[in-house]
Amino acid sequence: MSKIHNFSAGPAILPQEVIQNCSDAILNFAGTNLSLIEVSHRSKEFVAVMDEARSLVKKIMKLGDDYEVMYLQGGASMQFVMTAMNLLETKAAYTKTGTWAKNAIKEAQAFGKVDVLGSSEDKNFSYIPKDFVISEDYDYFHCTSNNTISGTQMQTFPVCPTSLVCDMSSDIFSRDLDFSQFDLIYAGAQKNMGPAGTTLVVVKKSILGKVSRHIPTILTYQTHIDKESMFNTPSVFAVYGCLQTLKWIDKQGLSNIEKINTDKANLLYNAIDGNDSFEGTTATEDRSKMNVTFVLKDDTKNAAFLDACAEAKINGIKGHRSVGGFRASMYNALGLESVQALVDVMNKF
Ligand SMILES: *Cc1c(COP(=O)(O)O)cnc(C)c1O
Repeated sequence: MSKIHNFSAGPAILPQEVIQNCSDAILNFAGTNLSLIEVSHRSKEFVAVMDEARSLVKKIMKLGDDYEVMYLQGGASMQFVMTAMNLLETKAAYTKTGTWAKNAIKEAQAFGKVDVLGSSEDKNFSYIPKDFVISEDYDYFHCTSNNTISGTQMQTFPVCPTSLVCDMSSDIFSRDLDFSQFDLIYAGAQKNMGPAGTTLVVVKKSILGKVSRHIPTILTYQTHIDKESMFNTPSVFAVYGCLQTLKWIDKQGLSNIEKINTDKANLLYNAIDGNDSFEGTTATEDRSKMNVTFVLKDDTKNAAFLDACAEAKINGIKGHRSVGGFRASMYNALGLESVQALVDVMNKF
């Protein structure tokens, strides 16, 4: 297999050893002589996978027994619904920082009053709004830590006198945070923690069970907590892939991963800033280390630049259809050498 520099936004690059372990398990799972995708999710071998995938998240996040970890289906988009359904009694506060935040707000509005405390829609989501105060009479405050499409990232989180809920789909496990400041974290696996098909939810137990509406069994967090993410058949393959990625993360530690991600981001942003042909599209202090968005000042050269990237085996650079330009997604598994390959093309261009 020839090496492709994979800058895809999601589903996205995974560590080579994760892909190798997944392929091994497809052929022979845990010495059972059965494939991972043909064994019962109730087999002791798979129950062990699920248990470890749940406990390793808490270990890496340094969270205690007051938190629960779930692997659910329906993507982060389902969490836009489930968070509101399970937590919103009267009113909630949101920031509107991108397409995904907008979708989250839209879903929450079906369950109660939603106040948008900060929005960057006026400038095409190119910055993170910061001038707002969260009052304690909100049921929760919801934010998106990293805006995958526009390329902004929250560098700090606001002081929050109510429950802090965060969509971390595109920067989960990319940096060392105090995870205990969050009451609920969710992330579709396919950006930075595994194959598509499962969604990680981490919740502080004490915030649950407070709304009065009837919630369907499968959409109630407590159901999945009680059944240890086995209420119904889980995404066996995706959870296995997540466990392999979590082991890879745990070996390195989040602070080492963060250092490498910072080096990668500095390398690319310096190349953008130092090259007259290119321009970043987001506020400097809010720049994402995961999804770097930029444009060519002369956009008649876009196709030629994409050709030059393809020539250098660089994949997935085209910007999201809603914003245009270019986007380099640099998730954990992408090596510095891949960023260097892109920088080389930019410098030559
Ligand atoms: C990709 C993404 C989503 C949507 O995820 P699905 O799993 O496809 O529903 C939500 N939020 C953010 C920040 C994302 O990057």
